[in-house]
Amino acid sequence: MESIIITIDGASSTGKSSLAKAIAKHYGFKHIDSGAMYRALTFYAQDHNLLNDHKFNVDMLIAKLPTIDIDFTNADEIRLNGKIIDDEVRSMEVSSKVSLVAKEPLFRQFMVAKQRKFGEKGNVVMDGRDIGSVVFPNATIKFFLEASMKVRINRRYAELIEKGVQVSVEEVHANIAKRDHIDSSREDSPLIVPENAILLSNDKEGLTELLNIATTEIDKHLL
Ligand code: C5P
Repeated sequence: MESIIITIDGASSTGKSSLAKAIAKHYGFKHIDSGAMYRALTFYAQDHNLLNDHKFNVDMLIAKLPTIDIDFTNADEIRLNGKIIDDEVRSMEVSSKVSLVAKEPLFRQFMVAKQRKFGEKGNVVMDGRDIGSVVFPNATIKFFLEASMKVRINRRYAELIEKGVQVSVEEVHANIAKRDHIDSSREDSPLIVPENAILLSNDKEGLTELLNIATTEIDKHLL
């Protein structure tokens, strides 16, 4: 079988990672959650006192990049300099600042280089904002996943509550709206529907239906 790259882009909490995981499991491919990579860098900055509500020491974070290793375990958990930080990266603290980190071109270059390396051997499903447009413009198959604000808020709220995070629906709504604005209006690699992407909606279909639609499309490339 030929090695392929599948990209899934879309705004936050549309269900990209759940679909990407399901596709990866179906074909035995690797799943890379590129949002988790930006979250890991944000967590690093906060943990090293380079980023808080009052300051963001961009230059110092740039200087630290050569010492920052971001990787995934075989179970697709995110690892920062060897330590699994799957729960830490999902915190509201990280969510509230990640888009500020992700809009800086030097941090994007750092991530794009890593993402291309992860995709080098193929048979990868990668989800994010710019994966089909910038990271892998020649991907075998590209999806763009949409969902209504209501569905997105409910998804993120349920996810946080399940993790034991104290949060209100209003806070989740405000965070999603703020990130939408920053992610779509930034100069470097804004969120767009990539050329030739297949549009999917999480409003009408559940995960099983979405997986069916996606695998029908992907199978055409595997024959
Ligand atoms: O997908 P998730 O919501 O976890 O992504 C967190 C943030 O990381 C996004 O709001 C966006 O600012 C940034 N991101 C990005 N490019 C990607 C993936 C995520 O800028 N490919």
